[in-house]
Amino acid sequence: MKRQKELDYVEKYRYLGLTLSENIDYKVSVNELSAAASRSLGSLTSKFLHMGNMDFEIYTKIYDNTVIPVMDYASGIWGIKRYDSLERLQYRVIRTFLGISKCAPIPAVLGDMGWLPVYIHTQCNAIRLWCRLMKMPDNRLCRKVFCWDIETSTRYKNTWFNNIKTVLNTCNLTHLINYSGENISTNYVLETVKSKCVDDFKDRWSNEVRTMPKLRTYKTFKSEFSTEPYVKRHLSRVQRSALARIRSGTFPLEIEQGRYRNIPPNLRICKLCNSGSIEDETHFLIYCDRYTDARNRLLRELPSIHIDELPPNEAITVLLNANTKLVANFILECSNIRREFI
Ligand SMILES: [Zn+2]
Repeated sequence: MKRQKELDYVEKYRYLGLTLSENIDYKVSVNELSAAASRSLGSLTSKFLHMGNMDFEIYTKIYDNTVIPVMDYASGIWGIKRYDSLERLQYRVIRTFLGISKCAPIPAVLGDMGWLPVYIHTQCNAIRLWCRLMKMPDNRLCRKVFCWDIETSTRYKNTWFNNIKTVLNTCNLTHLINYSGENISTNYVLETVKSKCVDDFKDRWSNEVRTMPKLRTYKTFKSEFSTEPYVKRHLSRVQRSALARIRSGTFPLEIEQGRYRNIPPNLRICKLCNSGSIEDETHFLIYCDRYTDARNRLLRELPSIHIDELPPNEAITVLLNANTKLVANFILECSNIRREFI
């Protein structure tokens, strides 16, 4: 020791704003980043509420420039794994914009907004760092630590390099591990890794949409992971929320409310008409005769669609993809009628 000073033994140490624990478990660091990002999110949320509304592009831009940079600080180091705290934070950001509750199923929350999970972004940052280290001259300190990590990885499983290797193997890029740095194209590697991560995520998402009971209606009209037109359209917060709730199966209908009262699904009957039908989204939007007047007024304004001639699944798809502002107003009008009656 140069100055003859004994170093203290500590369980964690904060270095350049990142807390390192004794066993290099980055969960502590990520939770701290998540708390800091949550504070930045508070500023975005208060702007959003104070202004009364915001367009999708502006909301996304502010999120990308104020919350994401806090969230992904030093993610080249820890970003290879998925952390729940960060994903939950992003769900919160989306729920605020769409005006939906915590009960909304995650595949619908993500599917309508069309935002990819945080881990895909942080994983690409880690791969970008690997590309940089591969190209770095041997005399640089970072490069020396990188070479030490590679050597350590032959003896220990859970190392940074081994985690990177797993991703490269999954993306069929194993051959690059022994390449010399100058032969590696960072753009090619990043594009390959991102596209593999996105494909895998979309497969899992489609599977969840197909199998989640609450998404009974959602799966009939949503097949592709992308930002929905109604999300991008200039709608009021109430209109956007009405569409998002009906789509995600969280609109207060018997089919949803009966879940909390332990009523079997086949007994969640519509109380507004005498049809004896289950009050689900399709019945509410397409068939319930309590809303016939409101529905006819809507259909007069949408002369190109003929939902009466279509089977239920197609009818709801056509209606939800029609003029979103008019459909949102129709949902709100029906909701008022329902509220007065019940
Ligand atoms: Zn009814």
